[in-house]
Amino acid sequence: MRIYKVGGAVRDRLLGKPVTDIDWVVVGATTEEMLAKGFRPVGADFPVFLHPKSGEEYALARTERKSGRGYGGFTFHASPEVTLEEDLIRRDLTINAMAEDDQQNLTDPYHGQRDLEARLLRHVSPAFAEDPLRVLRVARFAARYATLGFTVAPETLALMRQLSESGELEALTPERSWKEISRALLEDQPQVFVEVLRACGALKVLMPEVDALFGVPQPPAHHPEIDTGVHTLSVLQQAALHKQPLTVRWACLLHDLGKGLTPEDEWPRHIAHEFKGLKLIKAVNERFKVPRDCQELALLVGEYHTHGHRALELKPSTLLELLQSFDIYRRPQRFEEFIAACEMDARGRKGLEERSYPQADYLRGAATAARSVAVQPLLEKGFKGPELGEEIKRERLKALKAYKEATSV
Ligand code: ATP
Ligand code: MG
Repeated sequence: MRIYKVGGAVRDRLLGKPVTDIDWVVVGATTEEMLAKGFRPVGADFPVFLHPKSGEEYALARTERKSGRGYGGFTFHASPEVTLEEDLIRRDLTINAMAEDDQQNLTDPYHGQRDLEARLLRHVSPAFAEDPLRVLRVARFAARYATLGFTVAPETLALMRQLSESGELEALTPERSWKEISRALLEDQPQVFVEVLRACGALKVLMPEVDALFGVPQPPAHHPEIDTGVHTLSVLQQAALHKQPLTVRWACLLHDLGKGLTPEDEWPRHIAHEFKGLKLIKAVNERFKVPRDCQELALLVGEYHTHGHRALELKPSTLLELLQSFDIYRRPQRFEEFIAACEMDARGRKGLEERSYPQADYLRGAATAARSVAVQPLLEKGFKGPELGEEIKRERLKALKAYKEATSV
């Protein structure tokens, strides 16, 4: 049996990038031999094993054939006769289809190294079109390597467009899609992921609500970039620049969906877009079975981001309602993430990337003021039940009025 490093580990070593996880391919072996060496099988009918010590993935060289829609529709053929070249040809991109033995001898039948140098994401073979997930994977790699100058090869983009138009993307499970989307959003240039999906027509299928934002104008006084889609991409870019977590990035992507619903005769104004967008945000959340913390923040940011921008003008009672909606007493981190998303929204505008955002500290100060109301003295005064709740609210309102007076000049 011969063992090779494959995929990301080879690619990233050649790029001079740190290698985190290593995938291995085993040529000339049977399942029985692997088990005899102590490898643990990963799945029942999948020829993949975990190394007894390192826990790294070892896959038997295999060929694949498409036998139905979606990812389940694959038949695998793994046997000791399958060659390394045959295994590599079923992979998505040429830069992911190189193998390396323990002497660092490269096997590169599909010219991955040439494409690394040319900074091209290029599919290995027409079989690329057999798994629609590859559309998302290529967009994700484009986001990851954009800083290095990588682009999608035109013929690969054409295949991605074909896949998007064929209806195959709809066969993807929410779980597989979300895994790619979430990883892509956490890359350095997540806006490139969205751009590539849009360029091949996949955005229209996966997130028509986001696709619809392109071509929708906003008032130039607040939005020098004018286009809502362009704004959304800039907000996402700011979120990455500021190293925001996934929750914030997801909220950034969806915060303005309501603007896609504005009737054209109301352009460039978007009255009540915050509220109108909620059902769209909910639909996208559910489509990909998005984790609860991401879902929640996206909805809250969608509804309240303009409150964030107007924080300094809000009446104490409105400010209190905002803080209550966020349950800042039990969920302090979520409110911080809301503030961060608002700030990214404010900076994700042409020429305003470096602006200051005094609303952030103002909101933090307001939260501190509201939290400073102690419950114990009210209990001692004999308040209980709903009356206690009302009294706490009154005290918090008082605290916010004092805060507003103290901070206004
Ligand atoms: P990462 O750094 O994100 O782990 P990777 O290239 O190692 O990148 P993996 O998802 O770990 O990506 O997959 C390992 C290898 O398996 C890929 O490099 C590629 O050759 C192949 N591969 C994975 N998923 C697919 C797919 N859906 N279609 C074709 N080939 C795939
Ligand atoms: Mg990997």
